[in-house]
Amino acid sequence: KALPADPIKDNYRRQVSEACFSYATPKQTAKPEMLHVSDDMLESLGLSEADAKSDSFLKVFTGNAILPNTKPYAMCYGGHQFGNWAGQLGDGRAINLFEIEQDNKNWALQLKGAGETPYSRTADGLAVLRSSIREYLCSEAMFHLGVPTTRALSLALSGDQVLRDVMYDGNTAYEKGAIVCRTAESFLRFGNYQIFAARQDEEHLKQLVDYTIKHHFPDIGEPSKVSYIEFFKQVTQRTLEMIIHWQRVGFVHGVMNTDNMSILGLTIDYGPYGWLEGYEYGWTPNTTDRQNKRYRYGNQPNMGLWNLIQLANAIYPLIGDAAPLEAILNQYKSDFESGSLNMMRSKLGLEITDEKDQILIQELEDNLHLTETDMTIFFRNLANFEKETPSKGLEVIHDAFYKPDEVTGNIETRWITWFENYSERLQKEACSDNERKGKMNVVNPKCVLRNYMAQLAIDDADKGNYHLIDELFQMLKKPYDEQPEYQKWFAKRPDWARHKVGCSM
Ligand code: AMP
Ligand code: MG
Ligand code: MG
Repeated sequence: KALPADPIKDNYRRQVSEACFSYATPKQTAKPEMLHVSDDMLESLGLSEADAKSDSFLKVFTGNAILPNTKPYAMCYGGHQFGNWAGQLGDGRAINLFEIEQDNKNWALQLKGAGETPYSRTADGLAVLRSSIREYLCSEAMFHLGVPTTRALSLALSGDQVLRDVMYDGNTAYEKGAIVCRTAESFLRFGNYQIFAARQDEEHLKQLVDYTIKHHFPDIGEPSKVSYIEFFKQVTQRTLEMIIHWQRVGFVHGVMNTDNMSILGLTIDYGPYGWLEGYEYGWTPNTTDRQNKRYRYGNQPNMGLWNLIQLANAIYPLIGDAAPLEAILNQYKSDFESGSLNMMRSKLGLEITDEKDQILIQELEDNLHLTETDMTIFFRNLANFEKETPSKGLEVIHDAFYKPDEVTGNIETRWITWFENYSERLQKEACSDNERKGKMNVVNPKCVLRNYMAQLAIDDADKGNYHLIDELFQMLKKPYDEQPEYQKWFAKRPDWARHKVGCSM
């Protein structure tokens, strides 16, 4: 399609049919200021530290300048939100700038919070500093944890004030506006395909699926019913892998709506996400989901499946046969069982498989739920367990208990039994305690972005102090290392932060 004659007018809110995207122009901002740039991401894009300090970098990545011969656009997608079809959603506050090819990798660069688009509906297309810090820090942290994710290049202030509801009291307040430049091979979501299926627009559905296969799943080959089935299979596998990683590190996404499910199996949309502190299947960081807890930690694998069923429905018209799609969905269930068992084995340092592992793991998870037990500290400390002295087990992990006084009587007995069983199970492994420790410490992180840490960085940033953003950013680059210089962060969540959770907009 031709470039719009009037880009501002082109941003007007509307239903967009028969198109995957609309051109959109980022908003000019009052006083852009770069707060942080990911050095790692810079390098991946082939940019230098000097580039990052330039005026044009600031302008481009806050939407105040458009590079020549590029045409920013917002994507059209729909989605199921909390189980209900919501119709057209689209990039309401994201604008894609351009793509960069570097070292045989393709990067799409996208601004979040750069103003309204045709998809902004009733909202303003802007983002506040608070949510931008959360997305910026967490997406880079997830990358370094080895979890498939979209990433972030930069975090900037727009210099504008943004009006937001203040939680709980119903009032509104002005907050600092911010813009994150995020990056990914592609930002395509399940909802991009669903919107065409919902509109019975098979022509564009096919066009988009063919485009996706050609650019992002090139090994699948030419479009055909067989390749569409293979495409669905690979999306299913990637989604499952991503969710097993979430379970491994204790990440709770919080809004697994189908518009927030990447077709590449990347963690996308860091809104009300949170990290498990106490190991708890029922926990969700999303305050708007406290009733049903649809997106609670223990339900993420099921929700992944539910979302894949919606994607299967969307691409079904291209295949016309439900059986192969159903077979893939059934496979997800058994792959999840075995994948999650293997993941838990790795967290315990178990290499060989034993038929009783499932029981050992189940009993561990039951114990972890008996009294609030910090997931990260528990698994990190468990690496210090010595298989010849199971009686010292409780001592080794004692720091992980939020209420150590509760670990008496029946609870204590259950733990003692578990450590005896664990010790017995470790006898079957060939490796030494020390070797096991090394293996466990590359799957059990020493640090994650605990909810209160992001909050501290936000509180400081509100006062104009950005030091903590950098400190956390640096620490989270090496989550599996000992890093004694950051010792003060390797602790349980402090009591004052107990009910603090992240929030989204
Ligand atoms: P989310 O809950 O973040 O996945 O967002 C759901 C939909 O609302 C997406 O289409 C977003 O683009 C849109 N949206 C969220 N926040 C804003 C905003 N401040 N302005 C415009 N659209 C928004
Ligand atoms: Mg979203
Ligand atoms: Mg969001």
